[in-house]
Amino acid sequence: MRAMQIIEWGKPLQAREYPTPEPTGEQVLVRVESAGVCHSDVHIWDGYFDLGGGGKVTLEQRGVKLPFTMGHEIAGEVVAVGPQAKGVEVGKRYAVYPWIGCGTCNVCRQGEELLCLTPRTLGTRTSGGYGSHVIVPHPRYLVDYGKVPQPLAATYTCSGITAFSAMKKIHDHVGVGDHFLIIGAGGVGGQAVHIAPAYLAGKMLVADIDAGKRAHATEMGAVGAVDNSSADALAKVIEQSGGGVAGAIDFVGSPKTMEFGINALRKGGKLVMVGLYGGAASISTVLFPFKMMTIEGSYVGTLQDLRELLELGSAGKVAPIPIETRTADRATDSLADLKAGGKVPGRVVMTH
Ligand SMILES: [Zn+2]
Ligand SMILES: [Zn+2]
Repeated sequence: MRAMQIIEWGKPLQAREYPTPEPTGEQVLVRVESAGVCHSDVHIWDGYFDLGGGGKVTLEQRGVKLPFTMGHEIAGEVVAVGPQAKGVEVGKRYAVYPWIGCGTCNVCRQGEELLCLTPRTLGTRTSGGYGSHVIVPHPRYLVDYGKVPQPLAATYTCSGITAFSAMKKIHDHVGVGDHFLIIGAGGVGGQAVHIAPAYLAGKMLVADIDAGKRAHATEMGAVGAVDNSSADALAKVIEQSGGGVAGAIDFVGSPKTMEFGINALRKGGKLVMVGLYGGAASISTVLFPFKMMTIEGSYVGTLQDLRELLELGSAGKVAPIPIETRTADRATDSLADLKAGGKVPGRVVMTH
């Protein structure tokens, strides 16, 4: 097998050849055909996550050792299975759920592997899709993507379910006559703008500082799109929603966007925080009882979220995000493009 690997943090990736691994026990070997390049790969490549206020967590502290193969948005073909792996066929193609826990603790057994304290996430803890082959610990992490184009299915394993899982958290708050607000319509928020019309009742409002993203959101069915950097943005949202939105999702996660989201809520509204921009905000404590509001955090999504999203997509209900396919040799360029910002509309998906 061949892998584009981090040899030194932040330096160009290098192609390395290794013996192709053989699956044992319940493991499955997948030949990677689509590997999405995610914004969090840029941070992994750098070797640390910035926590704000001077705080930093390094990948080395999390136990990641070099050389390392990134890539958590994976789809491909099953080429070998371990003797105890049941329920998947060699030669069949699947999307791979990467957010894998230990598989044996309490939360893992309840299907909440995201909450596991000893994760084995593909491409962030163990070798991922920047390699031509990936070992998946169990067949249950392989999901049939039906009629969804394979590169798009790969992006659903991270950015897709991140958007979808957040939407599920406001689903029951938003009735047919209600409005919901998406703050930040690029990247994951861009996925949300595409998925929301197929999944949420109610009318979509979008806030983004970029005119192009606002125009695109309107094409996708938003009934209103405001520039949240302008002074009258909040008043417009309140007016367009007839007094405030029933649900809002903040895909930016800055103190300003969080405040915007809270102030846009009507009584009984709910704000879901997704974006990792960082910083600290102060919130009036009396707003919670006065507005009877809820604020909830959301991080990626569950295996069940991936199944449901792929079903929705397979039924032809979700407009695909723009995808640019590149060969894995261009991994470093693709990371640099993401880091620079504004160079990738939608997602880069690599092939091997
Ligand atoms: Zn990701
Ligand atoms: Zn666990």
